[in-house]
Amino acid sequence: MKHVVILGGGTGGTLVANRLLRQHDPHELMITVVDQDDQHVYQPGLLFVPFGLTHGEDIVRSRHRQLHDGIAFRQVGVDHVDVAANQVHFEDGSVLAYDVLIIATGAVLVPEETEGLAGPGWMEKVFTFYNQEGAAGLQSALASFEGGRIVINIVDMPIKCPVAPLEFAFLADWYFTQRGIRDKVELVYVTPLDGAFTKPVASAQLGDMLKERGVELVTEFNTGEVDGDGGRLIGYDGREIPFDLAVVVPLHGGAPYVGRSPGLGDELNFVPTDERTLQSKVASNIFVIGDAANVPASKAGSVTHFEGDALVENVGHFLGGEPLEPAFDGHANCFIETGFHKALLIDFNYDTEPLPGHYPGPVGLPLLKESRLNHLGKLMFQWFYWHSLLPGRDIPGIHADMPESGKRHASSARTQEE
Ligand SMILES: Cc1cc2nc3c(=O)[nH]c(=O)nc-3n(C[C@H](O)[C@H](O)[C@H](O)COP(=O)(O)OP(=O)(O)OC[C@H]3O[C@@H](n4cnc5c(N)ncnc54)[C@H](O)[C@@H]3O)c2cc1C
Repeated sequence: MKHVVILGGGTGGTLVANRLLRQHDPHELMITVVDQDDQHVYQPGLLFVPFGLTHGEDIVRSRHRQLHDGIAFRQVGVDHVDVAANQVHFEDGSVLAYDVLIIATGAVLVPEETEGLAGPGWMEKVFTFYNQEGAAGLQSALASFEGGRIVINIVDMPIKCPVAPLEFAFLADWYFTQRGIRDKVELVYVTPLDGAFTKPVASAQLGDMLKERGVELVTEFNTGEVDGDGGRLIGYDGREIPFDLAVVVPLHGGAPYVGRSPGLGDELNFVPTDERTLQSKVASNIFVIGDAANVPASKAGSVTHFEGDALVENVGHFLGGEPLEPAFDGHANCFIETGFHKALLIDFNYDTEPLPGHYPGPVGLPLLKESRLNHLGKLMFQWFYWHSLLPGRDIPGIHADMPESGKRHASSARTQEE
């Protein structure tokens, strides 16, 4: 009997546990999932909370109930991993030995790393929608906002779902239009990138869309300090951006226990990982999925989903003493909500940037084009998340490898993810 221990029961940990159970004899493989709480949040839903389009409690379910019978669940915080001894130490002092460890502990927000961000004004006129508390606080703040300047700021990359702050800007334009006060609200999008997004074709299009909606774009701004009392973002280069309300995506890091585990993480507490096999570079019996990995793919649920296939296959190869497959191609796809009941869809991987066309083939959802169909796809995805993705079922027509057919190669540029 081999023991696979999965740290983190979020998107990646849950879907991998359920897939492993299906593919292995339970008499030969024991699977334990560990998480610090029992509240599984559907994180893409956080975008809709500030605009009153959903409520915090509607996007949360019990974690352990998403795991199939036959998978053990332990609710306890990880203190550290002893890589040399193949053991996990928990906050309650207990220890668990593993044959294979899968790290799925995601990314955390570290607002305290930016001077002033978590200081005066935090949760009063400086918010984030990247967690439940912030999204709910922002809902009240937006509801009572009668006019002024709203700044949407990404402190630094990498962040989860790099398109979510853009979606926030588009939805804010829609929201204040609906309330009849759009002319009283100035929207400013402040990013450390040199454009609205990282990839040239999508960046140009999304930049044009911000302009059409009257959202000012400030690029290459590295936030050094947030003055909540005075209502200013202060850049490392001395530039200042005033606000009445700031919507900030704080710096992200890996889970803090990674930093307490000698040799496990990099300087941001992400785990060095082979970008194709998803085996860690730390030890051959440690694999990594989702936001916890330092691979050059987006930190997104779709990426985590597509990584699941390659990771489960490679854990099987590892247990069978076979060579691993370089199976993960960096595939990501994201619906980008653009307001007024429309959305864009982008689909890309390590080698191909988001391009126009259709997904998953020549007849399908339009790529890089606003449509109501994409908006419905975005809304329906929550159902697929709970009922197909987490249980480890295949979603019809959606495959881990990025489909080439349907894409229009307007540019021959082949770029790497940030
Ligand atoms: C606002 C927002 C919008 C998003 N929108 C989209 C979208 O539209 N499309 C998309 O594809 N992705 C989106 N994402 C990103 C997506 O939710 C994540 O990329 C995905 O959930 C990552 O899965 P994961 O398993 O790596 O981490 P998570 O699902 O975050 O799970 C990590 C788990 O590890 C646990 N954990 C951490 N530390 C410890 C510890 N010390 N001990 C025990 N347990 C621990 C946590 O409790 C958590 O359950 C969005 C994210 C946000 C915040």
